[in-house]
Amino acid sequence: MKKINLNIDDIAILHNLYSSKSKLVADFKDREDFFLKHRYKMYIAFAEKRKLSTLPRTPYFHRQRAQIFESLYSSGLSSLKYIKEYRQRNSYKVCSLCGSPAAGTLDHFLPKDTYPEFSIFSKNLIPACKCNFSKNKNISMIYHPQFFDFIENRLYYIDFLIVNNSINYRGIKLNIKPSHPYYKLIESHLKNHILKCVDGFEDEMRIRLQSLYDTPKTYIFALDSVTISSKQQLKKIIHNQLKRENQKFQTPNSWDSLILASFLKKEVFNDFFLRVITI
Ligand SMILES: [Zn+2]
Repeated sequence: MKKINLNIDDIAILHNLYSSKSKLVADFKDREDFFLKHRYKMYIAFAEKRKLSTLPRTPYFHRQRAQIFESLYSSGLSSLKYIKEYRQRNSYKVCSLCGSPAAGTLDHFLPKDTYPEFSIFSKNLIPACKCNFSKNKNISMIYHPQFFDFIENRLYYIDFLIVNNSINYRGIKLNIKPSHPYYKLIESHLKNHILKCVDGFEDEMRIRLQSLYDTPKTYIFALDSVTISSKQQLKKIIHNQLKRENQKFQTPNSWDSLILASFLKKEVFNDFFLRVITI
């Protein structure tokens, strides 16, 4: 989960595209300019009203016409080079949809088979991991990483206990109050995307929690050079590391951040402190 703040001028991109020599865009300006600008405006208006799932499809979108948009998306044309750069940008090493430490694909938030006109529209492209392959077709159940500012806050935590040095995993929970205006959507994204589309998500969390508990020095780097003498000191070290990593990855919702922050919860912090001072 990660808020994406893109500074891409889609209209300037269209104008560059019109001047391309590619056969794909012959007469493209005359045929599509008015339509595309109109549809882009509609997309933004619906997304800003949080109603993108109700954006009407374009009726009678001829298959051949749709194919041109899909071909443009994968064409590698220099006027669309932003797509390749966006997909590969290093700062996206966290999936915007599930928080995994992988990206490398771009998801079409509104699918390109039903909304082909948004195939090359930056506001519809979301850096993601392979979780996007099984994304729910009903996008009203998940949040759009470019349009919801709440994604900049920590949304979830892992509920667990430590029993006989073992992680007793109890589930992933919401880190926000039920009065939050998007509580239902944040809950729905968890159920309908993270838990459904990420293979073995909860097993992965359990393993990562156990691993951090077993070898805290491998994960909390400052422990290598200081001896912990108080709970306050350990909390401060964890908070500092979270702050650094959240800045580096531009989100507090990466898996690493989610796991480390969960050790600060009162149910487990004392046990974790005891573990840290005895190794
Ligand atoms: Zn993902």
